Amino acid sequence: MNLILENNPFHYELEKLCRLFYPEESICVLENRGIPEAPDTLTAYAGLQKTGGTLHMTARLLDGQTEHTAEADYIPNLYGDKNPERQLAELLYGLLVQQTGFTPQWGILTGVRPVKLLRNLIGQYGQEKALNVFQKAYHVSERKMELARLTMDNERQLLSREKPNGFSLYIGIPFCPSRCAYCSFVSTTVEKTIQLIPDYVACLCKEIQAAGRTARDLHLTLQSVYMGGGTPTTLTAAQMDRVLAAVQSSFDLSECLEFTVEAGRPDTITEEKLQGLIRRGITRISINPQTMQDRVLQAIGRRHTVQQVFDAFQMAREAGFRDINMDLIAGLPLDTPAGFADTVDKVCALEPESITVHTLSLKRSSRIFQEKVKPASGADVAKMLDYAGTKLIGGGWHPYYLYRQTRILGGMENVGFAKPGAESFYNAAIMDESQTVLACGAGAGTKVCDPSGSGRLVRVYNFKYPHEYISRYREVLERKAKVKQIYEQFLFS
Ligand code: SF4
Repeated sequence: MNLILENNPFHYELEKLCRLFYPEESICVLENRGIPEAPDTLTAYAGLQKTGGTLHMTARLLDGQTEHTAEADYIPNLYGDKNPERQLAELLYGLLVQQTGFTPQWGILTGVRPVKLLRNLIGQYGQEKALNVFQKAYHVSERKMELARLTMDNERQLLSREKPNGFSLYIGIPFCPSRCAYCSFVSTTVEKTIQLIPDYVACLCKEIQAAGRTARDLHLTLQSVYMGGGTPTTLTAAQMDRVLAAVQSSFDLSECLEFTVEAGRPDTITEEKLQGLIRRGITRISINPQTMQDRVLQAIGRRHTVQQVFDAFQMAREAGFRDINMDLIAGLPLDTPAGFADTVDKVCALEPESITVHTLSLKRSSRIFQEKVKPASGADVAKMLDYAGTKLIGGGWHPYYLYRQTRILGGMENVGFAKPGAESFYNAAIMDESQTVLACGAGAGTKVCDPSGSGRLVRVYNFKYPHEYISRYREVLERKAKVKQIYEQFLFS
């Protein structure tokens, strides 16, 4: 697909808008080329022309056989617009809806955090008018507006627990038993890298100790810990215990609200590992089926069955876990709205304390993107999410964090639902980007937030791959030392 822009710099927004409708197309952005008469490639055009004192906007969509055009004059300050970007997007959006017959439920909103936009609008206009603008200016559906509003209210309560000198700790274990077909993370299958794990664990423990010294020097209060990946339970019980012991000896956990370990793949969970986590005081684990359909599990390359999910869940309950999250993904290859509804029903019947419903995101480096595997349509994904939302809210799980990703099917969203009191503080804080996160491990990104609440933040990244992380470990420690300087600069600026 070609996207031709004339006299405007809105490449980023308009490209994302086209991708909402054509997620599998690669989009070639051309500037100031004029529009071809009868292009043989689907072509979108968005242009601005100044005539007299007005700025005229034109949007066109051509596919060689049909042609749609929409024109309007730019109205300055309409819904607070400071430039024509939103109105030009709105014009092109109308044509894309007409051409495809698909109406995205988040309308022209392509941003990652709709809740943040809604919160800003409320700050600007007050609640009632803000909700109106959210719907009218951005074409957000009634259903999604309500979801954003509910999420915002729940998230607000959770974030009120943030301390000015609070921080969270992330520990990355980038190893998995096999690679999921949709995965784009820096995770390495154990078959290829098992020999790296002992050295990785040794380096990670030293980095955790260094992060602990930074936190002590800066008088920071640890509020949550999240051990994710990858699949942390790919490690042996002894390796996991070594990492957890390093956390306990390096940090003061007395004010820590939660300590999550992502147990991820059910086939990596054993009674020995669960008992080890309980002994180390882990409060929350995540067991992630993604789907409760065996044929879908096979299609996405997860080497476990639905029965193993049931078994792992029961084992975790018997070990004493009273705060379990389960992750699901809507839109996986071979899945259907009926199959997804069955998945949701099965997971709800287990009564986990929280359920996170993701929508498949077609990442370029994933196998399904590269092999052009057909995922569910945007319309089917909408049905899946509508079912999940109704069932979960009806069952007492309420939404408390929400985000979207680029290339997410149907332009939909990922939502964390939880029973009251079981919301993850870490998830809400990460989403809000309002709290410092010290991150350890390959591919982990530390985020230093200005404690004065100015919204300024600086990111410091570790090396991506385990072998690099191990071999360039001294540089990892040097980068960690910078974190302290950055935080102090915020404090004294
Ligand atoms: S479990 Fe997560 S990190 Fe591991 S391969 Fe699957 S998607 Fe990637």
